[in-house]
Amino acid sequence: MMENKLTIYNTLSRKKEIFEPINSPFVGMYVCGPTVYGDAHLGHARPAITFDLLFRYLKYLGYKVRYVRNITDVGHLVNDADEGEDKIAKKAKLDQVEPMEIVQKYTNNYHRNMDELNTLPPSIEPHASAHIIEQVAMAKQILENGFAYEVNGSVYFDVEKYSKTNNYGKLSGRILDDLQNNTRELAGQSDKKNSYDFALWKKAEPEHIMRWPSEWSDGFPGWHLECSVMSTKYLGNKFDIHGGGLDLQFPHHECEIAQSKAANGEDSVKYWMHNNLITIDGQKMSKSLNNFIMLDEMFNGKHKLLEQAYNPMVVRFFILQAHYRSTLDFSNKALQASEKGLQRLLKGTETIEKLKISSETSVNLKSLKAKCFNALNDDLNTPILIAHLFDGIKLINQIYSGDETINKPDKDDIKAFFNLMVFDILGLKAEEKNNSNNKFAETVNLLLNIRLEAKQNKNFATSDKIRNELYKIGIVVKDKKDGFDWEIK
Ligand code: ZN
Repeated sequence: MMENKLTIYNTLSRKKEIFEPINSPFVGMYVCGPTVYGDAHLGHARPAITFDLLFRYLKYLGYKVRYVRNITDVGHLVNDADEGEDKIAKKAKLDQVEPMEIVQKYTNNYHRNMDELNTLPPSIEPHASAHIIEQVAMAKQILENGFAYEVNGSVYFDVEKYSKTNNYGKLSGRILDDLQNNTRELAGQSDKKNSYDFALWKKAEPEHIMRWPSEWSDGFPGWHLECSVMSTKYLGNKFDIHGGGLDLQFPHHECEIAQSKAANGEDSVKYWMHNNLITIDGQKMSKSLNNFIMLDEMFNGKHKLLEQAYNPMVVRFFILQAHYRSTLDFSNKALQASEKGLQRLLKGTETIEKLKISSETSVNLKSLKAKCFNALNDDLNTPILIAHLFDGIKLINQIYSGDETINKPDKDDIKAFFNLMVFDILGLKAEEKNNSNNKFAETVNLLLNIRLEAKQNKNFATSDKIRNELYKIGIVVKDKKDGFDWEIK
């Protein structure tokens, strides 16, 4: 049931557009994935959840979506420009392991965190290092088409030449003259014709370990090239959606547009979408401010800025409570409010089951549903959607308390609708009741409550026995004034 068509904000046109796939019902969606040289942090969660929401909703709308999200494992240099060490190689040197061990370790970490956040895996997850041949081929094509030049074994994109017939800067709104003045690069340090040119292929210095042969040199591809190559390889020269964080808009996505056009002669992306960034207590996340919170730390509470651990579903709900194009500020207060909100939403969804059936329905469920779909269709406006769901919870509670009534078909309908919105589209999860960790904790608590009773009845033999036997299997019991506490040794 849909009241309106889905509209999404296209960064390229700077306006909301009705979503019309190039080849409906097929939808191609490419999202820039992580550079895997460290644990995933909060900054990784937002694009993953934003495009997971879109992926889920497009599938609900009946589209056949191919969602490609890459793994960057080569060519991303430490200062995000064309000079310096490769981020992966630097970390490998530090840890004294193979670069591919770094890639594997942090790809595993990323997958585990994404799973905890309940994001669906993409349809294809290509690695840049597995597409060197294709990257060399695209660089060659761009050279042949006259939009690149070779110097000393490196190949650079010729931005000035491209700009004569194309609008370089059309995505980010940057202007070439400003770029020329604003690019900090010492004279004579680079082989580039212009400081704003960017590498398609870099000749490797002797100490650079991640290298592949090419006709120009033993070297490695420039960071931007992988996304032009892997998006068009798996989605075709023209595809529907390209997404990523706002921080990637320039230079990464601007360069992607230029490369794909220079190689294939046409613009490859119909809708460019960017999620806004996350701040922490009003400040940008940065290594120097030591406010980089890893997702593992969010979930276990072990970061000095955190007052408690936050369930991954609280983090997910918190991110969805803001529109993806707004900035989002993390604070303990805001997260704790989300924790309460999520509980209220899940509890309300559970309450539907318990509603008594009447012959008539006294509430307007049709209008509630329409408002929810309208919010989603309005460029994925999840804060408004969630506000309407809370209005729905109010109605449900009024029916539960007997102030309003519902009939059997409407009860079934509203139950299906909440399941669809809360679990299938927002991708939230109720706490698993069959989780073995929970069962284990419940069992220990049960034993300790029996022990408490024994103590109150002055049956110290039983009470000591329970404590000692638990100790033998590694559970340490601590008596407290108002009960007990326990931990695993
Ligand atoms: Zn990318």
